[in-house]
Amino acid sequence: MPKKPPPPKTDPECIAAYTNNAVGIRYQITVPHAFALEYPVVAVVTDLVEISRLGSAKKDENLAFRRYLSAHHHRVEELQSLAAQIQPQIDCTTCANCCRCGVVEVHCGDIENLSRHIGVSIEEATRAYTRLDPENPGTRVLKNTRTGCVFLRGNLCAVYPARPKVCRDFPHLSFGTHSLGSRISSLTRWIPLCPIVYNAFENYKHVVGYHPQGRGLTP
Ligand code: SF4
Ligand code: SF4
Repeated sequence: MPKKPPPPKTDPECIAAYTNNAVGIRYQITVPHAFALEYPVVAVVTDLVEISRLGSAKKDENLAFRRYLSAHHHRVEELQSLAAQIQPQIDCTTCANCCRCGVVEVHCGDIENLSRHIGVSIEEATRAYTRLDPENPGTRVLKNTRTGCVFLRGNLCAVYPARPKVCRDFPHLSFGTHSLGSRISSLTRWIPLCPIVYNAFENYKHVVGYHPQGRGLTP
């Protein structure tokens, strides 16, 4: 089963971190070939500060869009196709906001991979790099430092080849053939933080014919 993306932390440091980026990570989003260019992208915003500003300004609009999507059936492949076209235009190495603001759930396989990669025992990797998630009893998450994930170095992941599955799959726009369902809530919370999610949803509004101007919601 695909995992829901972790909800972002909303502290001001995460938002402020937009302006302090240098190098980072790139994610691969795949969609069924037939959908690859069926829904052309209209526009892509790449400026992180502008995305943060617009994402916050459009909070009410995106909440209304979320409700609209819940009430209408649109194929998830539309959003996947858009995300696949947008992803190559976004340089994750200038962002890394998911590593700063996310909560990374880890499972046994993830910790095994990390321990092998770092060269420590599973017990040591568990103790040194993970903690219990107080909000999800029985679940372990990666530890955080003041600047984000314990493995974040600048904008780079120090354990990139062995990063947990939830990191490899982020921003979780490439899964399944069903409607967005319960994922829509956690995805939309990443709109002001993740350029891929922001642009995918902005273009998705065009594809599904959602016109916020006509609803008095344009900021
Ligand atoms: S928040 Fe989005 S754009 Fe930024 S590094 Fe993560 S996946 Fe890439
Ligand atoms: S493990 Fe790596 S990819 Fe995952 S949140 Fe930490 S720094 Fe980012």
